[in-house]
Amino acid sequence: MPELSQVPDAKQPLPIWGQSGQRVKPGLYVVATPIGNLRDITLRALDILSAADVVYCEDTRVTGRLLSAYGISKKLERCDEHTEKRRADEIIAAIRDGKIIVFASDAGTPGISDPGTALIAACHQANALVSPVPGPSAAIAAMSVAGVEQTGNFLFLGFLPPKSGARRRIFHDYLSLDATLVLYEAPQRIKEMLSDIHEIIGPREIIIARELTKLHEQFYRGTPEELVLEIDHANFKGEVVVLILPGTENETAWNDEKIDQALTAAMADLSLKEAVAQVSSQSGISRKIIYARALQLNRHET
Ligand code: SAM
Repeated sequence: MPELSQVPDAKQPLPIWGQSGQRVKPGLYVVATPIGNLRDITLRALDILSAADVVYCEDTRVTGRLLSAYGISKKLERCDEHTEKRRADEIIAAIRDGKIIVFASDAGTPGISDPGTALIAACHQANALVSPVPGPSAAIAAMSVAGVEQTGNFLFLGFLPPKSGARRRIFHDYLSLDATLVLYEAPQRIKEMLSDIHEIIGPREIIIARELTKLHEQFYRGTPEELVLEIDHANFKGEVVVLILPGTENETAWNDEKIDQALTAAMADLSLKEAVAQVSSQSGISRKIIYARALQLNRHET
């Protein structure tokens, strides 16, 4: 319960008390919202939304629907990736004026592959209070049911570049990381992504979590090659999280240095093609990657 000394005089507007009895101080509240199932919203998020003077959001129609489902009526202002920098000044001024400001994206946690970062940085710069109201995030929801035994480590990469070359370079960089890679991707690009994973990473276990918390929630598990065959790409719709599980100890221990050493040793006795095949089978890393390194080694030697 609030302490007596905190109760303002009768002429002042009533302070807002959260469920926990904490006073909601003026500041920017970064509120996570459902990623599909409307019931996935915390009591505290509803408290703060009810207490807000203004709710800034990516799309006023989307957040408006959420608020009306919970009987909350608020002033909504659009604030998306194009406007958040511009909006920052008025939001900071409002906080200085004692206002409670909420920022929400369309779904999930703001700032996680979503707008919010520039606004939040501007508020920090201005020494305004910034406070998280945690809740759903598709990446965490997918990881929570992955049942990954090898390691609890994961690396969130969000959306990768749409161009295959740039994507492949990233896969190559993280090839030997002993952690699950967590990616967001549009359904129409899944097939292309799977074939890049197949080419660069090889037969690693993949989980695709589709439409989490929604009616048609579905999980696919298999190697990239198996999933390309299993998924009906023409009808593959909805939102997805892609998890690339860590390789075996053997695979992850094969960094560039170790590949180069093995290639140098193999190429002393074998042809380049034979050496690539041998190191690829020893390491479990695709021939394409090993071949690229072998060419580089050859170039350095000549
Ligand atoms: N900020 C959000 C979060 O915390 O998860 C992510 C927003 S990002 C613009 C949208 C992407 O998140 C989608 O393209 C998809 O990859 C993933 N996503 C969001 N909701 C999802 C769901 N219900 N099921 C699977 N993936 C989802």
